[in-house]
Amino acid sequence: MKLRINKIDNENISNLKIDCENCFGLCCVALFFSKSDGFPQDKIAGKPCINLQPDFKCSVHKNLRKKRLKGCMSYDCFGAGQKVAQVTFKGHDWTKSPDIANKMFDAFLIIRQLHEMLWYLMDASTFISNDNIKNELNSVIAETEKLTRLDQQSIINIDIDKHRIKVNRILKQVNEFVKKKVSDEKIKNSKNKKALKEGYDFIGRDLTNTNLIGANFAGALLIASNMKDTNLKGANLIGADLRDADIRGANLEDSMFLTQSQVNTARGNSRTKLPKSLSMPYYWEK
Ligand code: SF4
Repeated sequence: MKLRINKIDNENISNLKIDCENCFGLCCVALFFSKSDGFPQDKIAGKPCINLQPDFKCSVHKNLRKKRLKGCMSYDCFGAGQKVAQVTFKGHDWTKSPDIANKMFDAFLIIRQLHEMLWYLMDASTFISNDNIKNELNSVIAETEKLTRLDQQSIINIDIDKHRIKVNRILKQVNEFVKKKVSDEKIKNSKNKKALKEGYDFIGRDLTNTNLIGANFAGALLIASNMKDTNLKGANLIGADLRDADIRGANLEDSMFLTQSQVNTARGNSRTKLPKSLSMPYYWEK
């Protein structure tokens, strides 16, 4: 039985994908980052990265992998960069109008969170057949989208934590709905697979013989775990750390809340099944 019953809205989802051509290098300036997290240097927020060129292109873009800049390779702004540059600030470049620079960076940090929420909400919408949940979900999507289109000052004043509570509530409802739908299959699968022990720390664990259908991996540490050829149908992967997790041949087509950034840090191959909204990284094994 397929869990993802609705098609993803391609137009909306494409607005939540990175488009560096229409951005002003915001993620390479607005964020603080450190060398230990796979970025080129330790840097404070608001200071441009040493590799950012005046045309907002990265001078080492082709060599990010060779230079082991995993932080840069996996970072995902969820399309917040182009939204802030082209919609909120109407194409004004912060280098030419330095007075707007800090406002732009602050707005980027807020919009990035809202776009991430939109990504999860859009993903949730593909699983839902229940009208009540669907209506509430659509109304939270519309409200979140509206917030991203406010003017600069109003964006900075958004109570993001309050809005996140509302978003989390509906995501949880969708997750419960999916868990119920997948429960029979989970029971069937438990005959030949071990039960998953609840927890957050799965670092380096071999999960190949564990029943991962409907697993709750929200915020879990799956770093360097082995999930090769597993079935992660209905598994909740929101905020899970998949760095170097072996997902070669794994089925994540119907996993919930997976992002491109998580996929980019994991070790997959051409047999790994991903949701249609995500792409296989070029450096995965063919
Ligand atoms: S190395 Fe390139 S991609 Fe990474 S932060 Fe610097 S300019 Fe951006």
